[in-house]
Amino acid sequence: MIDRREFIELATSASAVACSSTQPKRVARTTQPLAKPLFVATWPFGKPACDRAVEVAGRGSMLDAIEQGIWVTEADIKNASVGIGGIPNSAGDVELDACIMSGPDHNAGSVAGIQDILHPISVARKVMEETIHVMLVGEGAKQFAISQGIPATQLLTDQQKQKWIEWQKNNHKRPEVDEDNHDTIAMLGLDEQGDLWGGCSTSGWGYKIPGRVGDSPIIGSGLYVDNAVGAAGATGVGENVMRFCGSFLVVEMMRGGANPTDACQMAVERIASMDPKRGINDLDINFIALSKNGEFGGAGTSNGFKFSFAARDESGVRDGRALSEKPIGPEGGNRK
Ligand code: ASP
Repeated sequence: MIDRREFIELATSASAVACSSTQPKRVARTTQPLAKPLFVATWPFGKPACDRAVEVAGRGSMLDAIEQGIWVTEADIKNASVGIGGIPNSAGDVELDACIMSGPDHNAGSVAGIQDILHPISVARKVMEETIHVMLVGEGAKQFAISQGIPATQLLTDQQKQKWIEWQKNNHKRPEVDEDNHDTIAMLGLDEQGDLWGGCSTSGWGYKIPGRVGDSPIIGSGLYVDNAVGAAGATGVGENVMRFCGSFLVVEMMRGGANPTDACQMAVERIASMDPKRGINDLDINFIALSKNGEFGGAGTSNGFKFSFAARDESGVRDGRALSEKPIGPEGGNRK
């Protein structure tokens, strides 16, 4: 029996049977929507982030909830793929990408390649609320943050610096990809009024070329919110999402009538069918989606580890049967 107050992580079962190599993994489906406000976020680290978001939504705005939920992940020094403690680029600098979207006014803010700022999600929000622009990059984004009273911080930890030195000695060999060294927090929210919100934040691909920008800060790729239909967010190899406007595609699938899980799966299949070079298991892309009526789900292709996401409302998850509905796919794919 699931405790209604318990925070439930929706994940694929480790013991699940391998599915067809042409099928992305459908990680969860809801048959019964959660109460509003509700939040859905990528990966196990989405769990404490959603926890905080629900708490903040109880006393603040949904944008506060998304922003402060994501703060939890950005401030987690042990998380090597988001915020402080993130894996640096090939020059040893931590460069962060983030964006935020507000459904009711279809507004957005974004930063890419920003350095020395602990909470890029907050800078993205400032871009949205305090400027006439949508996206700021690099040094300009950092200077804007400072002008808004956000202090500069050292983001490269001693541990990541050491690993970067090793990586250089090791002929720049790409690190094994696992749950500890990649990924994005993408968070979607739905409030009592039926309005949708979203945000995402990442340090991107470890040891990337300086200046590389992934899908996460690109509206329609790493995140998309359409207040009439639903919201979607992405994690995985940004290059394989941003060439296809992945999150926009998921939302369009929902507009066409697909439920969130099916929409994510259909988007992955569409991307795989259009990519001439990569099979579905080489794409390493994962989506979460939340519909206007409160259904949520996800699907992805990540191999060698499990794509999972978290969802919660004030009282916990209502439908524990959403767990592990579909099997995990074959192991062993690589990021391309
Ligand atoms: N999508 C992110 C990027 O490509 C990284 C990830 O989610 O694994 O920058």
